[in-house]
Amino acid sequence: MEQPLLNRSEMIILQPSSLKESLKVLNENPDAEIMANASDLWPRIRNGEVRPKKILDISGLTNELSYVKKDGNVIKIGALVTVSQLEGESFVKEKRFSAFVDLISKFGSLQIRNVATVGGNVCAASSSEDFIPLFLALNAKVKLSSVDGERYMSVEKFLAGKRKLNRRPNEILTEISFEDPGPGYGSAFEKVGRRNMLIINLVNLAVVGKIAKGKIEDIRIAANRVKGKIPERAKTTEEFLKGKELNEETLNGAKKVFGEELILTDDMRASATYRKALLITILERLIKKIGGVQ
Ligand SMILES: Cc1cc2nc3c(=O)[nH]c(=O)nc-3n(C[C@H](O)[C@H](O)[C@H](O)COP(=O)(O)OP(=O)(O)OC[C@H]3O[C@@H](n4cnc5c(N)ncnc54)[C@H](O)[C@@H]3O)c2cc1C
Repeated sequence: MEQPLLNRSEMIILQPSSLKESLKVLNENPDAEIMANASDLWPRIRNGEVRPKKILDISGLTNELSYVKKDGNVIKIGALVTVSQLEGESFVKEKRFSAFVDLISKFGSLQIRNVATVGGNVCAASSSEDFIPLFLALNAKVKLSSVDGERYMSVEKFLAGKRKLNRRPNEILTEISFEDPGPGYGSAFEKVGRRNMLIINLVNLAVVGKIAKGKIEDIRIAANRVKGKIPERAKTTEEFLKGKELNEETLNGAKKVFGEELILTDDMRASATYRKALLITILERLIKKIGGVQ
């Protein structure tokens, strides 16, 4: 099963053929870097950012980890579901999940969408990953599997920092799940980069909410950066908006509160001021979209 990947490399690729075997192999090799379809990992290996000695390749476990199903009120997505696969799923076509359509339409390129997995997206744990804010706004959970069993954790708790996960070394993320918020809810997602396709986002923002008869009954907001360097919920802005009428006064108030909640820093891609202005503009647009207001 162990075979050298490159002649002059010391890298070993472990390729078990079942989830059970993968969990056993990972338990015996907790230092192995897990690899799904490598669209994030491989560029980082090539540019020297990470130098794993061992790789646990789980890309072949599609029989076990490539499902999308509804279990009661809960939508369950296997870790190896690709973005293209998700695009064809019936739940994505429901109006309340239109954020998925917004997100997928701007994700990489067709070639990238065909390989990028949702599990890999969450585990990449950076502000460049587009699914993380949406899963945060959906209150999604991850299922972590190991030889010791399974445990569930909110995506929020799972993200421990930039490229850091609350994952035990012998655990594989096997599923992401969230409750269907139900009729009356809406969702929207937007990202902005330097061009329309194949971009690393400067900002992205996801909103899930219920706005009925002009009143904001529930709202959850997440962006690729709020206070730190990884996607987070904007909970102060959510609290400000909940229970209020959707009108100009509320929107102006929310923009002010959101602006105060955002603690951003300049980096090589954009200034904090520019990112903040983009996020505030997008927030207003997405709330109006969910509320059916132009
Ligand atoms: C040209 C290009 C364009 C891109 N465009 C976008 C874009 O528009 N939006 C966006 O969000 N991303 C984009 N990406 C990034 C990347 O495609 C996504 O993050 C993708 O979802 C990663 O999935 P993967 O299966 O390739 O993960 P991999 O690269 O295999 O893994 C990513 C990370 O997660 C870990 N990992 C993977 N699966 C598991 C698991 N099941 N359990 C535990 N750890 C795991 C790996 O160890 C690694 O650290 C782009 C990448 C490229 C190269």
